[in-house]
Amino acid sequence: MPSEAKAYAAQSATTPLAPFSFERRDVRPDDVAIDILFCGVCHSDLHTARGEWDGTLYPCVPGHEIVGRVTAVGSDVAKFQVGDLVGVGCMVDSCGHCPSCQASEEQFCETTGFVGTYNGPDTVLGGHTFGGYSDHIVVKDRFVVKVGHDEKDLAGVAPLLCAGITTYSPLRHWQAGPGKKVGVVGIGGLGHMGIKLAAAMGAHVVAFTTSADKVEDAKRLGAHEVVISRDPEAMAAHANSFDFILNTVAASHDLDQFMVLLRRDGTMTLVGAPEHPHPSPSIWNLLMGRRSIAGSPIGGIAETQEMLDFCRDHGITADIEIIPIQEIETAYARMLKSDIKYRFVIDMASLKQAA
Ligand code: NAP
Ligand code: ZN
Repeated sequence: MPSEAKAYAAQSATTPLAPFSFERRDVRPDDVAIDILFCGVCHSDLHTARGEWDGTLYPCVPGHEIVGRVTAVGSDVAKFQVGDLVGVGCMVDSCGHCPSCQASEEQFCETTGFVGTYNGPDTVLGGHTFGGYSDHIVVKDRFVVKVGHDEKDLAGVAPLLCAGITTYSPLRHWQAGPGKKVGVVGIGGLGHMGIKLAAAMGAHVVAFTTSADKVEDAKRLGAHEVVISRDPEAMAAHANSFDFILNTVAASHDLDQFMVLLRRDGTMTLVGAPEHPHPSPSIWNLLMGRRSIAGSPIGGIAETQEMLDFCRDHGITADIEIIPIQEIETAYARMLKSDIKYRFVIDMASLKQAA
């Protein structure tokens, strides 16, 4: 029997998130049912709930940084057992057959595209998928990952499921490591994970921020140097020196100020997905150093498991502020002011206890 889920949803781009209930599907042979304990708050949740990207379907239940405990498994599920601590990120399905899916790069699924944890097509019940701002979820086992961290660290593990993998994947792809100079632009949810991960991979890490009050924190997170990006002299001191820059900024901004910091053949990868486009970068800055601008979406399921294991082995979790779900709108307002150190995480007990 389908089960009733308690949640918070936006009913339109302009209405605040509020209590909502809906049905989760029954557990099928390849499904895992999860009691959600914590869910991180990603800037993508805000972009989607407020209709800043095209195509939000309402009611919208955001949330794709999910950690919780398995409460039931389908008859074909061998990898998970009731009681396991698990995570679910941004995807809950994909075709499974195309070359990208076969390579566990499901984020690039070439036939149907991946099914988002929220705002994707629900192929079982119809309608669209509802995410992690809810008390439980039923997910295909292929899209569930194991959490190996200590249970006491669970809330700080939640943001790894999006902020962690979205920064880990490009850092690996562009080979951040010893001998490489890596920049991380924007110290928010993604950026603070980018700093921790690039430092753990052995790169020389320079953090770029617009917020002077984050300088000391950035060093504590692992940055070897911190640059206030509004200071032209400090920026110029790093001209032509970076192998790789990971840009996590959530708003439209001038890319050229970072492009000129790349050395010959360097790449800046954009993971931020702002509501409005960036001004077009200068072609000359690309030509003259054979520099590249790239993009990168989340990461595949196998790599998400690899990232979680890497974080467990290096003692890495996100720096978080735990909130009850009733404070989600305040959290969004603070996120828009870059006033968060460095990820809000919803304690889902607040939803379950609410009348
Ligand atoms: P966040 O916590 O709000 O962090 C964004 C950071 O960008 C801020 O903390 C701030 O850092 C900087 N920033 C904000 N406005 C700025 C401005 N006008 N100019 C310069 N810097 C500014 O957001 P997030 O959750 O990390 O997400 C970042 C972006 O990545 C969002 O657009 C989100 O949708 C996107 N995203 C993409 C993927 C993907 O798969 N590619 C996955 C998840 C999220 P400072 O204070 O240090 O300057
Ligand atoms: Zn996200």
